[in-house]
Amino acid sequence: MRYISTRGGMPPKPFSEILLSGLSPDGGLAIPESYPKISAAELEAWRGLDYQSLAFEILSHFIDDIPADDLRGIIARTYTPEVFGSQEITPLKTLEPGLHILALSNGPTLAFKDIAMQLLGNLFEYTLEKTGDELNILGATSGDTGSSAEYAMRGKHGIRVFMLSPEGKMSRFQTAQMFSLQDENIFNIAIRGVFDDCQDIVKAVSNDHEFKLAHRIGTVNSINWARIVAQIVYYFKGYFAATQSNAEQVSFSVPSGNFGNICAGHVARMMGLPIKNLILATNENDVLDEFFSTGVYRPRTTKETKHTSSPSMDISKASNFERFIFDLTGRDAAKVVELWRAVEQGDAFDLSAGPLFEKINDFGIVSGGSNHAARIDTIRDIYQKYQVLIDTHTADGLKVGLAHREAGIPLICMETAQAAKFAESITEAIGHEPERPAGFENLEELPQRFVVKDADAQVVKTFIDEQC
Ligand SMILES: *Cc1c(COP(=O)(O)O)cnc(C)c1O
Repeated sequence: MRYISTRGGMPPKPFSEILLSGLSPDGGLAIPESYPKISAAELEAWRGLDYQSLAFEILSHFIDDIPADDLRGIIARTYTPEVFGSQEITPLKTLEPGLHILALSNGPTLAFKDIAMQLLGNLFEYTLEKTGDELNILGATSGDTGSSAEYAMRGKHGIRVFMLSPEGKMSRFQTAQMFSLQDENIFNIAIRGVFDDCQDIVKAVSNDHEFKLAHRIGTVNSINWARIVAQIVYYFKGYFAATQSNAEQVSFSVPSGNFGNICAGHVARMMGLPIKNLILATNENDVLDEFFSTGVYRPRTTKETKHTSSPSMDISKASNFERFIFDLTGRDAAKVVELWRAVEQGDAFDLSAGPLFEKINDFGIVSGGSNHAARIDTIRDIYQKYQVLIDTHTADGLKVGLAHREAGIPLICMETAQAAKFAESITEAIGHEPERPAGFENLEELPQRFVVKDADAQVVKTFIDEQC
């Protein structure tokens, strides 16, 4: 398995060479030369596997330059009941026949990003141990990416984490979760700006190839291909848990921001998993819903980005979306270059007039938007009807998922975070605070460790330089 760039400018590389970045030298994103196709016999054999064995089968299709026993060891260290709360790792909760929630948020930060990030931490450590290298991870977060990256990398030898977050824009819980980490290799940098300013700084630093090389800069943002691969596993796991046989189809509803989670679903479907629809849900920041309903991709400016009660989806441009467009164009890198030339100038592109817009149907993606009132209603409805408490992001997914639900097709809604992280909205919905899981009771009272910086790439470079 080799990887190429969505913009055509990278010679094919093995997994280990794209692991630490994900962004290609030509500005595109790493993507497999072709997707592995899973035979009916293989899919049948996978049905009975536990999470770890299934992860090994799937990962070894994408990672063929780590010896099998080593890869098994990495997976065994990552997906444990101690870290993820149960042997199933991603248990399926059935609300009623044909309506399920796939619990992806039982990791250390109570959000689904732990599933990919914990694997990444162990993959990075393994690779760095082999080469004796160091790595400085630079990331941008609007909430969950940052804390899951820090919890995955804390205390890991040879790794430092520099995590940018928009000052004062995350929930108190999310802020406390990150800033309370006292590990010496973790640096929290609060940026005077919004999430996209943080993301732009990461891009600017990554594009300074000299600095990047000298300081061994890597990223864990959702463009990292290994994160997508890790997330493919639970689409298979969820499918097997919700069906009796591989003749059945299911649909997934996915609360979306950077298009990372649903990109993994897209790849699972390309591999042959019987997925009818991938239902993409946005909040008020509806740039992706707009694209899938109109064919116009119009990234928003930072000013247009709304601060909502599902903050991990407050995104103005979707960094993984380029991978989908690459596939949509029939893997036409020149077309991707042309489209992203417009995007990078702050313009929109419009596929509504051409054949590409109709081709979206072949990929099974449908979409819808949610908003604050809808997510509060959904949290209340689900709680009253099923005595199950969901968080605001999962509520956006359920709202849109239910609108697209079809008779005879099981609907699996991705639970991307736990309600405990969003106490304010939960109280608004059901009149009392959610229970805190054990170990999180006094999180906000813990001492915090962070610095505040201007939204300026040079300022951030100087800070990194001082720590290395
Ligand atoms: C990151 C995140 C999302 C959005 O996922 P993408 O992969 O960026 O589309 C949704 N919900 C929660 C809780 C998240 O942390």
